[in-house]
Amino acid sequence: MSAGYEGKPVLHQITFEARESAIYVVLGPNGAGKTTLFRTIAGILEPYSGRVLFDGDDLARSKEARKRINYLSHYNALPEEMTVWRALDFYAKIEGGRADDAISLLGLEELKDKKVSDLSQGQKKRVSIAKVFLQERDLYLLDEATSNLDPGVSKEIRDILLRLSKERIVLYSSHNLYEARDVGTNLLLVRNGTLAYNGRISDLRSKEYRVGFRTATDISKIVDAKLEGGYYVMSFGTPQDAGLTLKKLVDSGVIVTEMRELDNPLQNLFEGTLSSSSSGTRGASETDGNVG
Ligand code: ADP
Repeated sequence: MSAGYEGKPVLHQITFEARESAIYVVLGPNGAGKTTLFRTIAGILEPYSGRVLFDGDDLARSKEARKRINYLSHYNALPEEMTVWRALDFYAKIEGGRADDAISLLGLEELKDKKVSDLSQGQKKRVSIAKVFLQERDLYLLDEATSNLDPGVSKEIRDILLRLSKERIVLYSSHNLYEARDVGTNLLLVRNGTLAYNGRISDLRSKEYRVGFRTATDISKIVDAKLEGGYYVMSFGTPQDAGLTLKKLVDSGVIVTEMRELDNPLQNLFEGTLSSSSSGTRGASETDGNVG
């Protein structure tokens, strides 16, 4: 599928399928085309070529299929003058569902009588997510759901989404690759409007991490490390293994002044240094994007 604005394509031949109930992280730097992809899946933009199918129905044409989707845009648009409960009730009357159910789903009981204008950014975001989850849908599109939130609130929101995604397909966009590692099981990497990777995050994780330790002591006698450019470098299968080695060094009385991930498969992918032949990207000759 290709799509864009005013005849100018932004997305080029994007093809993927989402079948499992899971969080699919749509990762890419700002301007890569994530929002454009979400708008096209949501049926707001019509693709220039190809189709977005939901269980076989063309989303650009089928109102019924569009009703099975909900989209959280990265602009917060809640009525500031209403209380949380009134705002959710207002949307429930339009979209269906019940304000009280959404409030309990997102744990917003303490906020329900507060005015939207008095809420923090993180609280507003939780209310926006409650609005998206008012009604049971089959597919949720959440655009930058945790951007501009402090790490504690972001984690809280990710935990809620992880719980909700057990029986739902959630597409979750982010420009933060560390967040992608935490939140999703599947990764769609968007770079310059193309799909640079489509696969499981665990497949990337299984590759090696190279970690450098900076110490004043020669640690090559304690662990299997090689001195390279001022760092004692070791390869690990998982970040946890690196942590265990750090503990071993500290327990042996070594003072570690710095520990650094030198090479991380996700980082390499993000920066475009991993060969695309190792990615699971489907052939660009297909034109359909089949979701659900
Ligand atoms: P992301 O969500 O990954 O940050 P976007 O999908 O918002 O990326 O933007 C991708 C490209 O499309 C950018 O070059 C942006 O300037 C362009 N773009 C986004 N919205 C519009 C629009 N309404 N009209 C014209 N170009 C747009």
